[in-house]
Amino acid sequence: MRADGSTHTTAVLILGAGPAGLVLGNLLRAADVECVILERRSRAHIEQRARAGFLAPESVAVLREHGLDAGLRAGGQTHGICEFRSAAGRFELNYAELGRGEPHTVYPQQNLVTDLVAEFLRRGGDLRFELTAEQIHDRFGDRPLVQARDAEGREHRFAARYIGGCDGARGLARRTVTVARTVNEYDITWLALLAQAPPTTSTVVYGVHPDGFAGQMPRSAEITRYYLQCAPHGDALNWEEPRIWAELARRLGADRHGPLREGAIIERSLVHLRSEILDPLQEGKLFLAGDAATSISPSAAKGANLAVLGARALAEAFTRAVRHYDHTALDRYSADLLPRILRAQQFSNSMIELLHPPTGPAAAFRRDLQRAQLHSLATSRSHRDFFAESYVDI
Ligand SMILES: Cc1cc2nc3c(=O)[nH]c(=O)nc-3n(C[C@H](O)[C@H](O)[C@H](O)COP(=O)(O)OP(=O)(O)OC[C@H]3O[C@@H](n4cnc5c(N)ncnc54)[C@H](O)[C@@H]3O)c2cc1C
Repeated sequence: MRADGSTHTTAVLILGAGPAGLVLGNLLRAADVECVILERRSRAHIEQRARAGFLAPESVAVLREHGLDAGLRAGGQTHGICEFRSAAGRFELNYAELGRGEPHTVYPQQNLVTDLVAEFLRRGGDLRFELTAEQIHDRFGDRPLVQARDAEGREHRFAARYIGGCDGARGLARRTVTVARTVNEYDITWLALLAQAPPTTSTVVYGVHPDGFAGQMPRSAEITRYYLQCAPHGDALNWEEPRIWAELARRLGADRHGPLREGAIIERSLVHLRSEILDPLQEGKLFLAGDAATSISPSAAKGANLAVLGARALAEAFTRAVRHYDHTALDRYSADLLPRILRAQQFSNSMIELLHPPTGPAAAFRRDLQRAQLHSLATSRSHRDFFAESYVDI
């Protein structure tokens, strides 16, 4: 990177060091394309921020093909079964043996981020922590400019040929673009919990209960994620631990299916389920990837996977544009990625409808349909195959 007065110039400026920005940065470094990543948080913060865990086979393949899977190979666990519990009983869906016969790999997102930061720096990458991008100027021009501010309030300016907007759902890139968007606010809130406890079963468990969804997602031998549907503005964040465990046990049918393995709740936050689709994923020289490009609820574990996929596509397109002055892949980026985003959104939406108690005027009728869906998923081979394929697909 060159210093041009007080403005730093690079080929690709990446906003955000989440999975999208870090995969993009690593692939650009490997292709010898100059880039800088700006991240508003500290390194310690992003390396501890627990979020996703389930990686689809295609994400794992991208990481493997680009030499980013050492940690994943050492610490990732293969998962291929999910379980549904409802008033009708419980059934397992061994998706690794249905559909395309592929499992997930469970690897906590903070571990992946830690690996990707280390590898980016090892590849000689320029990563600026605690630098918040505040404004994007001239995104339709030849050399867009980003104004950023550090923790001491000093201003920094970066000029680039292209900007990778990978700064998440509430980042600057999403706020800047004026493209068309559709939104669904689901009016469903989850209390997202991390427990210092081994998973109760080695499978994902989806509890469909009239009082609200409850779920268990294994993360590691010592840590388990639980979700508990709760009132959007209620006091669930302040619930005592015994109350949380009692509610999880009730909605997951612990009396019939066995007690939960309890432990200290080490993290809790509220997740408001929301989807947003932007089209196109680009405006001028600013290209969006990951959560910046689409918001998707965690119900089907697609967000981090779409981030990896978008970053791979963007890295290839930027590389061709910067190294060979060939813009065809950049021109196609949005049209190529959108169908995959839409498919993930569609499946995620169907999971939301399957897992949560219907509300509104036709609630009782839709509850019956939900029962029919669960019955079909338990008994129909073709439905199970389709679910299995969609579950690991991105
Ligand atoms: C509780 C929970 C559970 C989830 N479970 C799953 C799962 O099992 N599977 C799955 O696939 N997905 C899951 N997700 C979604 C997944 O975590 C996200 O989709 C993923 O983090 C998206 O990656 P990203 O790089 O696009 O964005 P992010 O990870 O949000 O990274 C964006 C980065 O940009 C930085 N940033 C923001 N604004 C600026 C700025 N102005 N300047 C500089 N930097 C900025 C942020 O600090 C952040 O580090 C879950 C999410 C949550 C909240």
